[in-house]
Amino acid sequence: MAHALKSASRRLPAVQVHGGAGWRLRAIPKALPGCRDAVMAAWEILRHGGSALDAAEAAVIVLEDNPVFNAGTGSVLNADGRIELDASIMDGTGMRAGAVAAVQRIRNPVSLARRLLEDGHPLMLVGDGAVRYARDVGIARCSEASLVVPRQLRRWQHAAGTVGAVAVDLQGRVAAATSTGGSSGKLPGRVGDSPLIGCGTYAAPPGAASCTGAGEAIIRVVMGKSAVDLLQGGASPQTAAARVIAQLARVTGAQAGVIVADRYGRLGHAHNSQAMPVCLVSGVRGRFVTDS
Ligand code: ASP
Repeated sequence: MAHALKSASRRLPAVQVHGGAGWRLRAIPKALPGCRDAVMAAWEILRHGGSALDAAEAAVIVLEDNPVFNAGTGSVLNADGRIELDASIMDGTGMRAGAVAAVQRIRNPVSLARRLLEDGHPLMLVGDGAVRYARDVGIARCSEASLVVPRQLRRWQHAAGTVGAVAVDLQGRVAAATSTGGSSGKLPGRVGDSPLIGCGTYAAPPGAASCTGAGEAIIRVVMGKSAVDLLQGGASPQTAAARVIAQLARVTGAQAGVIVADRYGRLGHAHNSQAMPVCLVSGVRGRFVTDS
């Protein structure tokens, strides 16, 4: 036990981000600098003793603000040519969570979800109700035009770049956050896995997970919670990630990706799509790794 704790403390803190499972391999160099910026923003918080929750939110804000990704600015358009955003965030320690779905004209949906987490009730708001809540708590609306980038107008049919983060702080507390514009050309009102606690995002004392890919399939296998349950059963984050992706492929035939962290600062990720940009930093010396 003492040995386990000692080796764990060498791995703490830790953070890992993904930039979505929908990328083509040749486009990955476009995604990695943004993932690196996000992971470094979170790392700065963690190495100064900040919380996993603050770090996960900070990483996702950086990714939402980067037009390369399908979250916040740069999100895909729905069938009506509008942007509807989904996001969620969860703190593993108290298992508190907040989520928003199908919200319009909010620059950082993850921060709106965080606000719901802090308020404690309700956990999730959608559409106009979420926007009204944002106004009441002083989160300004942005113009829809400021979220649209020419690339998404051109590529109406191809979604890539949902974003997510898992973080572990120096105290071994974990958190996860996920944000997306959803699937390109989606029906207005369609909600995928990303804002659903247990599906796209999950955190509990043993660990945290953030998912990306075919939302309807991820929901059916409750992928985020399935990954964290495997940690509880003794699996490593890498084994848990690989197993839930294998299960999703077997049950649904769909493509997805997942990043996983456990409370000891161990990190893992897996995907069965062509590519998924991932950046992580862990350990007292801040070992930095990218993958796709
Ligand atoms: N999972 C997201 C959704 O279905 C999309 C993605 O991750 O690419 O809304």
